[in-house]
This record gives sequence, structure tokens and C-alpha cells, in this order.
Amino acid sequence: MSYISRHTKAIIDLSAVVNNYEYIDSLAPNSNTIAVIKADAYGHDANKIAHALADKVALFAVGFIDEALALRNEGITTQILILEGPFNASDFDVAEQHNFILMLHSAHQIKWLDDHIKAHTQANSHRIWLKVNTGMNRLGFNISEVPHIVSALCTEQQKNLVLCSHFSTAEQINSDKPVEQLTLLKTLVSQFSCQFSMANSAGILNYSQSHGDYTRLGLSLYGISPIGKSEATKPLIPVMTLQADIIALHQLAIGDTVGYGDAWQATRPSTIATVAIGYADGYPRNAKSGTPVAIKGKIAPIVGRVSMDMITVDITDLLESTSIDIGDNVELWGKHISIDDVAKHSDTINYELLTRVSKRVPKVISI
Ligand SMILES: *Cc1c(COP(=O)(O)O)cnc(C)c1O
Repeated sequence: MSYISRHTKAIIDLSAVVNNYEYIDSLAPNSNTIAVIKADAYGHDANKIAHALADKVALFAVGFIDEALALRNEGITTQILILEGPFNASDFDVAEQHNFILMLHSAHQIKWLDDHIKAHTQANSHRIWLKVNTGMNRLGFNISEVPHIVSALCTEQQKNLVLCSHFSTAEQINSDKPVEQLTLLKTLVSQFSCQFSMANSAGILNYSQSHGDYTRLGLSLYGISPIGKSEATKPLIPVMTLQADIIALHQLAIGDTVGYGDAWQATRPSTIATVAIGYADGYPRNAKSGTPVAIKGKIAPIVGRVSMDMITVDITDLLESTSIDIGDNVELWGKHISIDDVAKHSDTINYELLTRVSKRVPKVISI
């Protein structure tokens, strides 16, 4: 039996995804914009997001092959770039069979590639994306290794070569580091006359010289700015609205406390709304008293600790102008509440909040 009792849900606005993709794509008109849908499309349901974008996007990107196979099982036929590359020698067989492009970052993967080509004379491993370490020091070949690796590739592979790297500080405008990283990559690119891919969302917005042949659009696809509010990010529309219902109301007298640890105490007669979402749903347990939520378009603060299944909200001020009742719904983030505000009140970042919405929260398409 399929039955939903609790009304807590993440509403996914697919027209917003299309809007955001087309808008960011227009900022980099000479680049091919890759839609990054790893980590279940940053918690938005990769299957739904991929289907919404399938006729606009030439290339999707995910972290590893398992994520790409899940999309194939849902009928997505678009080419998929595997950002962390192969984890096993056998990944080359799977990649070939399913039209995945592997981003190779380490010598052990090149060895697997060589073995794969030796074993399959018909091998179609001609599209090679190589990751170069330009200063993130996480994945990628060091600059000095690249010439040797490229020269060992066959002519066909060299012809299709794409060199990639990743910014460590692209969200900062006045930083020398992105320019240094880009210069390092571009020097190699001109040496081998190949294509390149450098920019993530922040790189697309802040460093137009980094757009290159392919941009890798993650966060802003979901309507969120990695660089705060600006003219350039105004057209972005948040894709996810996380919401839950009020399931209880309590009148508190001065001195009464709310929730675990008695962490919040009423300093005036207060009305507290209990809302059916907690840290087991991915709402951050770190969210402090004062973190905003929206009820009927108006802002109210959460008070007391976040529980596993519930939060508590002080609606005293709202009641002066609005009637609020059990069953009213509360937006935790979305079009009224910026996920950035919630992140700031919780000592984390928007990326983490999005990707941690848990499995027990249904993701439903808005109509
Ligand atoms: C996740 C990821 C991206 C997307 O970054 P955003 O900041 O979300 O736009 C781009 N490139 C690589 C290699 C990634 O892992």
C-alpha cells in the first residue's frame, strides 16, 4: 500500500531547473554547460532533474559510475561524465557499454586504461578527460606529469582530449588563486591544443575567462548562488522548497522552556508551534534559536533544540496579524527562506543542507 500520512516534503520545481540551466548557459555562450547531478542532484532527485533537462543538456556529470548507472536504469540516454573517474579496472568496461566518459586523475587509472585497450582491440576509449592538479591538491595529475601522460595517448585520444581542473576559491572575487590556477591549466591547453573545462558555478559567475569548452554547473542549477546576492544571480530560482506541517500549538508562560535541554526559555507569554521535521529528515540539528522559517509568507524563529522528528517555532509575533492553526504548512527553505540563512544559523553551507535531506522526506514535483 502506498500511503503518505505525514505531510513533510521537498517540493521540486522543475521549471525552475530549466530556467536556471538556460540562464547560466546564456552567461557562457561559447561553452557547453554540463549539468552536475551527482549526490542525487544535490538532493533534488537526479532522475527527475535529468528527465527535466534531457532535451537541453548534452552532458550530465555525476561522481561515480553507480550514480550514472542509476540514471541509465531510469531511461536517461544522455552522455554522462564521471567526475571521480574509475574506482576499479572493470569500470572501463561499464563505461564503454553505457557511454560514460571517465575523468582520469591518477596513474593507476591510466594503467587500467592501457590494460583495457590491450584487452579490447575494438575499444572505444577515445574520449579522454584528464584532471590536472592546479592547486586544489585533492585530485589530478601534477602539471609536470601531464606531458608524459598526453604523449602516451594515441592520436585519436589526443584529438579528443579535454583537460580539466577545479577551483578552490572561485567564490571569492578578489583572489589571485583562481587566476593562477587558470593560467596553469591554460598553459597546458595551448601546449596540446586541446579543449578544457575549469569552471564550477562560482567560476562561471566570477571568472568568465575560465568558461572554456565545458563548464560544470552544479549549485546554481538548483537556483542557489555560491557568491551571495548580486545582479548576476537574481534570475536564479530556488528549485527545492522544504516544508512541513504544524502538528501542535502550546501556550507558554514566562519562564517555561521548550524542548531538550530546556535550551530556550520564554521571557513573555508565548505561542509555540511544533512542526513535523527534525534532524532525521536532514534539517540541521545545529540550527540555533533564531533560525528563520516561513508560515503564510511571514518569518518566524525556531526556538529550542532541533529534535529528531520535530522543531519548535515561536509564532507569538505572527499571531498579531495572522491566524495560524494546526495543519498550516511551514517553509524551512525555498522561495521565502533562503537556504543560505539557514546554513549561516547552522554553521554549515547550502551544499550540505541540500544533499542531506533524508530519504524519509518524499520529493514531489510541483505542478
Ligand atoms: C561538484 C563538482 C562541480 C560543481 O560545482 P558547483 O560548485 O556545485 O557548481 C564541478 N566540478 C567538479 C569536479 C565537481 O566535483
